[in-house]
Amino acid sequence: MMGKVWFVGAGPGDPELITVKGRHLLARAGAVLFAGSLVDQAATLYAPDGCTIRDSKDMTLEQITAWLIEQAACHETVVRLQTGDPGLYGALIEMVRPLDAAGIKWAVVPGVSSAMAAAAAAGETLTLPEVTQTVIFTRVAGRTPMPPGEDLEALAAHRTTLCIFLSITLLHEVQRALRAAGWPEDAPLLVVQKASWPGREKIVRGTLADIKRRCQDEKIATQAMIIASPTLGARHWQDIVRSKLYDPAFGHRFRRASITEITEGASS
Ligand code: SAH
Repeated sequence: MMGKVWFVGAGPGDPELITVKGRHLLARAGAVLFAGSLVDQAATLYAPDGCTIRDSKDMTLEQITAWLIEQAACHETVVRLQTGDPGLYGALIEMVRPLDAAGIKWAVVPGVSSAMAAAAAAGETLTLPEVTQTVIFTRVAGRTPMPPGEDLEALAAHRTTLCIFLSITLLHEVQRALRAAGWPEDAPLLVVQKASWPGREKIVRGTLADIKRRCQDEKIATQAMIIASPTLGARHWQDIVRSKLYDPAFGHRFRRASITEITEGASS
C-alpha cells in the first residue's frame, strides 16, 4: 500500500505557528522533507524519533518528487514541509503533478503566510474601512517574469495594500514602481525580516524615499516581506472610520443593531 504525501504549511518560522493539523501530521510522519532553514525547527521539534528528515535545499524538482514517491512507498505519512502557506510561491503544482502521475495520494494543509506574520509583527492591519479593502500578494520580476498586466507599477496604481514577496534585493525596483504609480515620497513602507522567528525578527519602518537606506543600515538582504499600504501607522492617526462590524448601529447575522438608524442591510 502506498502512503500519502502531505504538503504542510509550516508557517513563517516560529514553530508555534504551524497549525494543529500540521503538527499532528508531523508527529506521525515516517519521512519529512523540509524546504530551507526557515522551517527546520518545526520538523525537528515535532517529528518522531526514527523519522527520516531531509532538507531539500540542494535538490532539483525531479529529485524532490522522486524522493517523495520513494518515501511514500515505505511510509503511510510523508510530509513536505513548506514555509508559510504552500499555495504561495511554493512550486506546489510542479510537485503534485508527478505524484498524480505516479498514482500517489496527496493533500495540502494551509499555513500562516509570512505576509500575515509580517503585519502581525508590526501590529499593523492590512485592511481599514474607507482606506483600503483589498490586499495584493505579489513580487517583482526576478528570474521569474511577471505575466502581462501584473507589473508592480500597474498593481500599485490601485492604492491598495501590497504584500511584496521575494523582492528585498530589488527594493530599488519596488521604489521605482511605486513612484511611477504616483505614491508620494512620504508614503509609509514596512519591511519585516524573519517575521516571527524568535529572537531574529527585524522590523524596519520607513518611507518610499528612505526605506532602502534603512534596510541597508539594518543589513537586510534576505527573507524579508515588504508591505506598502495606506493603512500603515493607522494606530497613530487622529481619526479613523470605525469598522461596521462592531458599530452599535450596524446589525448583522449574530447581533441586532442597538440603534434603529440606518444599517447597511436595511438601506439596501
Ligand atoms: N509560501 C511562503 C512564501 C515563500 S516565497 C509564504 O506564504 O510566506 C519566500 C519569500 O517569502 C521570501 O523571499 C520573503 O519575501 C517571504 N518570507 C518567507 N518567510 C518569511 C519571514 N519569516 N519573514 C519575512 N518574509 C518571509
